[in-house]
Amino acid sequence: MGKQEDFVLRALEERDVRFVRLWFTDVLGYLKSVAIAPAELEGAFTEGIGFDGSAIEGFARVTEADMLARPDPSTFQILPWRGDGPATARMFCDITMPDGSASYADPRYVLKRTLQSAAEQGFTFYTHPEIEFYLFKGQPEAGTVPVPVDRSGYFDHTSTSAGSDFRREAITMLEAMGISVEFSHHEGGPGQQEIDLRYADALSTADNIMTFRTVVREVALGQGVWASFMPKPFTEHPGSGMHTHVSLFEGDRNAFFEAGAEYQLSATGRHFIAGILHHAAEITCVTNQWVNSYKRLIGGGEAPSYISWGHNNRSAMVRVPMYKPNKGQSTRIELRTIDSACNPYLAFAVVLAAGMKGLENKYELPREAEDDVWSLTDRERQALGLQQLPKTLWEAIGVAERSELLAETLGEHVYDFFLRNKRAEWEEYRGQVSAFERDRMLPVI
Ligand code: GLU
Ligand code: MG
Ligand code: MG
Repeated sequence: MGKQEDFVLRALEERDVRFVRLWFTDVLGYLKSVAIAPAELEGAFTEGIGFDGSAIEGFARVTEADMLARPDPSTFQILPWRGDGPATARMFCDITMPDGSASYADPRYVLKRTLQSAAEQGFTFYTHPEIEFYLFKGQPEAGTVPVPVDRSGYFDHTSTSAGSDFRREAITMLEAMGISVEFSHHEGGPGQQEIDLRYADALSTADNIMTFRTVVREVALGQGVWASFMPKPFTEHPGSGMHTHVSLFEGDRNAFFEAGAEYQLSATGRHFIAGILHHAAEITCVTNQWVNSYKRLIGGGEAPSYISWGHNNRSAMVRVPMYKPNKGQSTRIELRTIDSACNPYLAFAVVLAAGMKGLENKYELPREAEDDVWSLTDRERQALGLQQLPKTLWEAIGVAERSELLAETLGEHVYDFFLRNKRAEWEEYRGQVSAFERDRMLPVI
C-alpha cells in the first residue's frame, strides 16, 4: 500500500470515522454510494469491494456482472454535513473488472482515458465550471409547477434572501471538503443561484461537481428548500447551464496563451475551439443529455442555440472571455452549451476529444460571430454559415449515431448503452400528451 492509503487509514482512527462511503457515478451521471466499515478499507485498497454491476445503470450485462470498486485515496474527505460525533468519510472509486482491468463502463475511466491520450501529447486539461441551479420551496410534487424560493434576479443582493443564506452554508461546506469556490451570486431566474468552482484538472473538477450536487441537495434539505439542476424547469425563466471554462497546459505553461495574438489566443487555442465547433452537434447528446436539456437551448435566456464562437458575445456557443493584461496563464475559453444535469466525466471527455481533434487536424477557426446571433434572420445566419445546435434530443441522438468521435471517446459499451437509453427516453416522451396541447385544443376543438 502506498503513502496515500496509509494516510487515509491513519485519518480513519484520528477522526473517529465509523463509515466510509465509496462513491462512483453511473453512465447517466447519478451518484452511487456504498458504505463500508473502516475495518474493510484495507481490503478495499488492495482488492476492491465487489458489487453487482448489472444493477447499476449502464454498467454491465447480467452475464458479466461482477465488478470491483477501488477507492482513490487522493479523494478522501470527511462529510461535513454528518454533524459532530463519529465521522463519515467518502472516497471516489475507480471501477475494475475481476481481473483488475479498468471497467469499460466507468465514466471516470472514460475521462481518465481521454486525459491520458491528451497527456501523451504533452497536455493537461483544466476546467472551471459555473454551476447554475434553482431553489424551490419544498419538494416539488408530481404534476405541479415548482415555486421558487424568491423573486430576485441577476446579482441581486437582499440581506434576508433564502438564496444568500443558502450559498453561504453550501460554500462553507464545499470549502470544508477541499473544494474552492470562486464566485457565487443570484442568477437571472427567481430562486436561481450560481456557484463557480475554482479551476482544477478535469478529473478533480468532475469529482468536485458530483460532490457539489450532493452538498447542494443536502444543504437545501437542511434549510427546508429543494435544489434542482434540471436544465429548464420553467418555460418563462432562464435554464440552468454549466458554462465551463477550459484550458490546456503544457507543463506549467498555458498552451492557449500567446502574447500579442488576437485575444491572446495561441494557434493551439484556436484549433481547439475549431475542434469543438466542428464536432459540436455530435457531442451535444452528451453535454445536454435529457429531453428537457433542449428546451434550454431554444434561444434567449443566455443559452446558446447556434454553433458559433465570439469574444464578448454572450449569444455565442464558445466565448473567449475578456483577457487581463499580464494574466496570460488564465487564458481560456468558455463553453456555454453544457448544462447542470450532465454527467461531468463524459461531458469533459467529449469536449476534450473534440478540441484535440481540432489540434490534430489543424481545423481552421470560422469567422467570429460579432452580432447577437439570436437576433439575426435565418437568411443572415445562413450567409454567415451559422449552423443550429440539435433542436431536440432526437436530433442530437441522430447525429451522435453517426459520430466516430463519440464512439471512440466513450468506448463501444458506453456509446451503445447511452444511445439506447436516450432513444428510450425520447420514445417515452414522444407519447406524452402535455398541458400545452390540452390547453390549446380542449377549449376550441
Ligand atoms: N442561465 C444561462 C444558461 O442557461 C446562463 C446565464 C449566464 O450566466 O450567462 O446558460
Ligand atoms: Mg450564469
Ligand atoms: Mg458564463
